[in-house]
Amino acid sequence: MITKREIDDILREYQKGKITIGTLGSHSALNIFKGAKEEGFETVCICRKDDEIIYRRFPLADEIVLVENFSEILCDDIHQRLRQTNTILIPHGSFNAYIGAEKIRNELHIPLFGNRELLQWETDREKQREWLQRAGLTLPKTFKNSNDIEGLVIAKLPGARGGKGYFLANSSEAFHKKAEDMIKRGHLRREELENIHLQEYTLGVNVYPQYFHSPLKNEVELLGVDKRYESAVDNLGRIPASEQLQLPSNPTYTVIGNIPITLRESLLPEILRMGENVAKMSKEIAPPGIIGPFCLETVITDELEVFTFEISARIVAGSNVGIGTSPYAYLNYGEGMYMGRRIAREIQIAIKNDELSKVVY
Ligand code: AMP
Ligand code: AMP
Repeated sequence: MITKREIDDILREYQKGKITIGTLGSHSALNIFKGAKEEGFETVCICRKDDEIIYRRFPLADEIVLVENFSEILCDDIHQRLRQTNTILIPHGSFNAYIGAEKIRNELHIPLFGNRELLQWETDREKQREWLQRAGLTLPKTFKNSNDIEGLVIAKLPGARGGKGYFLANSSEAFHKKAEDMIKRGHLRREELENIHLQEYTLGVNVYPQYFHSPLKNEVELLGVDKRYESAVDNLGRIPASEQLQLPSNPTYTVIGNIPITLRESLLPEILRMGENVAKMSKEIAPPGIIGPFCLETVITDELEVFTFEISARIVAGSNVGIGTSPYAYLNYGEGMYMGRRIAREIQIAIKNDELSKVVY
């Protein structure tokens, strides 16, 4: 396991006036790079050949390091290169999806903005539940076994897959039938059946608040709120019920993009307190707690009850809706604040106060 001391040793060698902000070229990289540039940093993108067009057409990365696949970031020569340019990496959804929390913890010898330990909590549904429950949030019920299914459940595959392969079932029989269908369609592997997480389906609307915990200010800020645009569920309503019934396939929840939301103001007290409680609990479960961005995935019912079904312990792609500004960022900062920039701002303040070690692990 990479120790904090090792990261601090690397940091000590860094030229603090010449820090580079780096990340993998996907997910929220444009958001991160734009923010870094606006705060005066150099930027580096670790990029796959096919995706290079993004970072050429939106030229926000000062350097592009081409790789065959993202796990090459674990190789010595890339480590060398990143350290020579005093790089701090910003983890996002692709880090867990393509490198894995375990390897990030053990093999990524580059300073990371954030808490590596919590990135691992994020990939373990049991640990996530523990964190959210201990923070006092309301969670949907879960079922250990498909025989226990009562009412409507959502069946979720392990890992950050953006809803791919999720399906609904209202009985054990329906669950097995649909699981077979998902295997046939290539959304699911048979050996993954064991690890499917069955969760009570909460009827309501999806709301994803994005927070930023500043260890320097010891404060949690709400920077934006979004919902996801999911294929194909989000457009099922455009088909009349009679035709829906005849649809051969079982719709899934593959995320295609995100849509900004402004919340009813009376919901804000609870949303704000939830973020604070989650940050507070993170200090107990994985000291020094969450550093920087995190996001709660909630469903709000027509009784205005907020159910939280997941947490992301890093920047979420939903914060891309705020690039430029979002109502909540605007209320605190005026024009031009958003998650990528808020991250870079925190690093900039840390450098000025000689507190970089407080935000980099
Ligand atoms: P990608 O590079 O687009 O394949 O995304 C990397 C990981 O982040 C995958 O696990 C995606 O499912 C997830 N992801 C990407 N974009 C979003 C989004 N807008 N909302 C939620 N998850 C996302
Ligand atoms: P996730 O990968 O857990 O973020 O979930 C992907 C999508 O599944 C969400 O955006 C929701 O549309 C839906 N979803 C997940 N959990 C629930 C739940 N307990 N109740 C209702 N919808 C859910």
